[in-house]
Amino acid sequence: MSNRVRFSLQIVLLVVLLAGAVIVVERAIRHQRRESQVAPDPGPAEQSSLRLYCPHCREEFDAVVDFSETPPYECPHCGRRAARVVDSEEATE
Ligand SMILES: [Zn+2]
Repeated sequence: MSNRVRFSLQIVLLVVLLAGAVIVVERAIRHQRRESQVAPDPGPAEQSSLRLYCPHCREEFDAVVDFSETPPYECPHCGRRAARVVDSEEATE
């Protein structure tokens, strides 16, 4: 009788351990998926941060622009045409 109880206890322990292992594996897979979703490609992204100069506002802005987007860029402040500031050169109009 006690042997039978011990046997069933061992089975329960085995099942619990297996369930724990499955949960750990599932978490690892989910974690990997989430990481790949957050950072799909750390290399050249489809968006780039550009420094724009608006001659109308006479101010510089940091704008995130799609690579598919082509100049002229829009001034995020007044919506008019803004020029891209290359490197740290001052834009001259
Ligand atoms: Zn502007």
